[in-house]
Amino acid sequence: MVSLKNVNKHFGALHVLQNINLDVSKGEVVVIIGPSGSGKSTLCRAINRLETIDDGEILIDGKRLPSEGKELAALRADVGMVFQSFNLFAHKTILENVTLGPIKVKNMRPADAKELATNLLTRVGVATQAEKLPAQLSGGQQQRVAIARALAMKPKVILFDEPTSALDPEMINEVLDVMVELAAEGMTMVVVTHEMGFARKAANRVVFMADGEIVEQDTPEQFFTNPRSLRAQEFLSKIL
Ligand code: ATP
Ligand code: MG
Repeated sequence: MVSLKNVNKHFGALHVLQNINLDVSKGEVVVIIGPSGSGKSTLCRAINRLETIDDGEILIDGKRLPSEGKELAALRADVGMVFQSFNLFAHKTILENVTLGPIKVKNMRPADAKELATNLLTRVGVATQAEKLPAQLSGGQQQRVAIARALAMKPKVILFDEPTSALDPEMINEVLDVMVELAAEGMTMVVVTHEMGFARKAANRVVFMADGEIVEQDTPEQFFTNPRSLRAQEFLSKIL
């Protein structure tokens, strides 16, 4: 579903992605962990072309991402993204936040988009907030809206970049619960997170990154109980 082949990227002298090879199959949930600055966000952003890459290739469902225009918009619609900071449109209602993409990018009729959005908002537990503005919601609610907004585009894969890192502790689980549900329903997901409970519960595979490289990858059980590299052992000793 997502395939990265020999992907390299530099920021000036910094080799932030070093020969990354990663294949995510349909329905697979891949958790990416690693120290700050290891390139996790850059990797996610490269997958839906928020960042360019220097060489290598990234295929979504077998297709290379076009660099611009309608084709890029269409293919990007296949790749949902949920950010740490929610990134909802501040001056639009919750409902409008979810209907905008389907109407603008997918040419859906407004009435149909509204029905879809209402269903999705119900599914993530915030339907009663539909007419409010994002700032009137808690962080956990806003993040669930962001997930509904991503789902409204019927993506083939959703990328989550530390979706719970900006949340107060009591709101983390309400977002993780929605993500665990999505995973159980077979959504293809790439999740950057330090929530090891989520990784153990929902991930098929854990990918450990350090200094721009994929250092090792394994099932959560193997990785957490028996990390092979020294770097992974050191990292886990700090966070577990
Ligand atoms: P964190 O866990 O802190 O979110 P990360 O693994 O997501 O870290 P990235 O945000 O991908 O790391 O950044 C990787 C490296 O690239 C860091 O050293 C960062 O400072 C650098 N970097 C990221 N974006 C840019 C940019 N636009 N210009 C220059 N350097 C950048
Ligand atoms: Mg990051």
